[in-house]
Amino acid sequence: MKKMISILLVLMLALGMAGSVLAEDAAAQTPKYVFMFIGDGMGSPQITATQYYVGALENEDSTLPVSADLSFTTFKNIGIMTTYDATSFCPDSASTATSMASGEKTLSGVINYNIDKTESFKLITEYAKEAGKKVGVISSVSINHATPAAYYAKVESRNEYYDIAVQGLTGNTIDFIGGGNWNKPTGDGTQKDLYEIAAENGFNVVNTNEGIRTLTADAGKTLAVVPDHQDSYSMQFEIDRQRKVAEGADSMALSEIVSAAITNLDNENGFFLMAEGGKIDWSCHANDAMTSIYDTIALSDAVQVAIDFAAEHPDDTLIIVTADHETGGLTIGFAATAYDTHFEYLQNQSMSYVDFDSEIGKMRDEGTGYESALETIEKYYGLTTKEGSDITMTSDEVTRIQEAYNLSMIPKSARALDANAMLTYGGYEPLSMAVSHVLNNKAGIAFTSYAHTGLLIPVYATGVGAEQFAGSYDNTNVFDKTMAAMGLTE
Ligand SMILES: [Zn+2]
Repeated sequence: MKKMISILLVLMLALGMAGSVLAEDAAAQTPKYVFMFIGDGMGSPQITATQYYVGALENEDSTLPVSADLSFTTFKNIGIMTTYDATSFCPDSASTATSMASGEKTLSGVINYNIDKTESFKLITEYAKEAGKKVGVISSVSINHATPAAYYAKVESRNEYYDIAVQGLTGNTIDFIGGGNWNKPTGDGTQKDLYEIAAENGFNVVNTNEGIRTLTADAGKTLAVVPDHQDSYSMQFEIDRQRKVAEGADSMALSEIVSAAITNLDNENGFFLMAEGGKIDWSCHANDAMTSIYDTIALSDAVQVAIDFAAEHPDDTLIIVTADHETGGLTIGFAATAYDTHFEYLQNQSMSYVDFDSEIGKMRDEGTGYESALETIEKYYGLTTKEGSDITMTSDEVTRIQEAYNLSMIPKSARALDANAMLTYGGYEPLSMAVSHVLNNKAGIAFTSYAHTGLLIPVYATGVGAEQFAGSYDNTNVFDKTMAAMGLTE
């Protein structure tokens, strides 16, 4: 019997059929290439909303809701994890990324230090480096923001942006870092420029789209930042990037940074690459559902690049896709629409709250009247006062928009928002929030918070060692499972 099986195996190998069979029987096998994707704030509601949105667009005539697949939602190994930290069961990005990068719990705001801030932790990237792999870190937000920082730095506070960057640039962990730019590139304004420090430490500094797209493995240690950064040195929101590209601009997608990193990092010992879709979180803080859906699609596209790579290296690749926590308390279902949802209404929106804030700034500077403001809202969100549209505003909604418009036209320094207004608008530009809330609610979705929540978070995995990630566990176990999959011990 044994002999027959080995003959069969030899036959299958000869036929090139053994890849998937062997991968399933790969207990002793470890992945040469490890991809860790983190959608910041991408809980189950964000993924579900994106699946139904894409499904609604692809199946206009369907009488039933259709949930479309994203690149990673078809992965066979699915887990669910707790994300609480030492401060709260609504944790932050610093403590949760620490848990996944080092296997330890800590306080909100702390990166890779223990609760007493007396001891630092050893990172998965450091173990990977010791095992001979190259290490890449990518984020669509600034690359010294909490999540990417947790994969190369150890600081008592996530706000130590400059120190985080210096640790990354002067340490031995990073071979590729890219996406958004450095936040606080000259620290307090007088410190040495981080791009200068990068060059001094042997980094090939690339800051053009063409330069990033044509990166090679020969380029060596690389810092690759997009030239057209948006708020807080981040990459563009995907919804804005697509609009700007349609208008003729060139702007890079997260997937292109992942491609560039793979080309740059590929070597005979393999690599560990963490890539973060960081603005899913930012848009959900701002209750901007359509923008978070676009950024979830951008992350799905980035994962697709890894899936395509894995297809060429099926016995050598592990892909993990998860989030650090949910943001915004997003729900599918809203009181006023009861059991109805209309995801297709969201496609009327073509601008993120950040770019719309800029439009509001122009209105304020130019003294734009309410009627013209309504025209701008209709242009970028589809919401109208004209009768007969699917998203014609009710009189209550018009009142909400007008109240927010009145507040937004007061210069920021002169605004005195009472506690109620702070709760209504979460400290954001009132008109942006009102417009998002009205459109979200018409679509049958809503947010309950401007902050993080304590929901369980799904984990999707495929490839060598992926079976480790099925089941129910804690976020610290993501570290343990990744170590085990890689055959590494502490
Ligand atoms: Zn986060």
